[in-house]
Amino acid sequence: MTTVLFAARDAQWVEYEPHLRAGFAAEGVDVQLTTEVADPATVDYIIYSPANALQDFRPYTNAKAVLSLWAGVEEIVGNTTLTQPLCRMVDPGLTEGMVEWVVGHAMRHHLGMDTHIHGQDGAWRGLVAPPLARNRKVAVLGLGALGAACAEALAALRFQVAGWSRREKQIDGVTCFSGDDGLKKALSGAEICILLTPSTPATENLLNAQTLSLLAEEAYVINPGRGPLIDDDALLSALDSGQLAHATLDVFRVEPLPVDHPFWAHPKVIVTPHIASVTRAETAALSVVENIVGHLRGEPLRNLVDRDAGY
Ligand code: NAP
Repeated sequence: MTTVLFAARDAQWVEYEPHLRAGFAAEGVDVQLTTEVADPATVDYIIYSPANALQDFRPYTNAKAVLSLWAGVEEIVGNTTLTQPLCRMVDPGLTEGMVEWVVGHAMRHHLGMDTHIHGQDGAWRGLVAPPLARNRKVAVLGLGALGAACAEALAALRFQVAGWSRREKQIDGVTCFSGDDGLKKALSGAEICILLTPSTPATENLLNAQTLSLLAEEAYVINPGRGPLIDDDALLSALDSGQLAHATLDVFRVEPLPVDHPFWAHPKVIVTPHIASVTRAETAALSVVENIVGHLRGEPLRNLVDRDAGY
C-alpha cells in the first residue's frame, strides 16, 4: 500500500481531501492518504505546503518525492533536510487565474480605466484614445508555466510582447529573450512590465534603478511574482520622478505588507494582498494525483525543482 502524507494546513486538508481521494479512486490506485503517521519511514510521498509543522524531512527515509502545493518554492528549496526530489505546483486553475489577473491589470492600464473610475466629478472630459494593443510594448519577465501563459494571452490581444527567461524559449507571437543582454532588449521601451520569475538569488532586485530606466517613460509595473524581484526604493524613486506611471503590486518582501509601508499610501501604487492567483484544490489535487500515479507507474516525476537554480 502506498502511503501519502498530507502535510499542509488543516483548512487545506478539508479542501483537498475529497479531491485527492476522488482522483486516486478514478485512477484505480489504492493509497493510504493521511495527515499523520506513526512511523515516518512508511511514507512514500509527501504533499506539502510550508505553512505547517513539518520542517525536518530526515525521518522520511523512504519518501520518493515531496510535492509542493505552492508554485513558488523559495521557502523550502533551501531546507537542507529535504533531500528527496521536490516538485513544485503546476496547476491549470492557478495558471488560468494568473492569466485573468495579469490581463485584467494590463488592460486597466492600457485603456487608462483609472481616469474614469476615479474621475467621477461631473466634468465631461474629452476622449484621449489609448493606442491599440498592437502599438503597445509589453515585457513579461519569466516565461514558465505562468509567464508563458500570460505572454500568450497578451499576444492574442495583439500586444507587442517581449518575454525573458533564463534559457532560450520559443513562444508563438512572443519575441523571446534570455541572458543579461536579452533582459535589456526585453525591457527597452516596454510600457507595461510584468514580473513572473521566481524569487532566487539570481532574480533579487531584477527591477532596480538601472533596469527600470530601460522602460518607456511613464511605464506600468505589474508584479504578481515575488516581492524581492523589485528594489523597493528604486521603484518608489521611479514613481516619484514620473519615470513610472504606476505599480500594481501583489507580492512583497514582508507579507502581510506592514500598515506603515509607503506602498499603501502612495498615489501611484495599488497593493493587492497576494491574491493574483491561488492554487485551487479542485484542479491542483488532480495535478498532484497525476504526478504520484505516473511515478508509481514508472514515469519520471513532473515539475521537478532544480535545487541549484532555486526554482
Ligand atoms: P516556472 O514555471 O518555474 O517559471 C519561472 C520562469 O522564470 C521560467 O521561465 C524561468 O526561466 C524564469 N527564470 C527563473 N530564473 C531566471 C533568471 N535568473 N533569469 C531569467 N529568467 C529566469 O514558475 P511559474 O509556475 O511560472 O511561477 C512563477 C512565479 O510566480 C512563482 O515562482 C511564484 O513566485 C509566483 N506566483 C505568484 C502567485 C501569486 O498569487 N502572486 C501565484 C503563483 C505563483 P526558464 O524557463 O529558462 O527556466
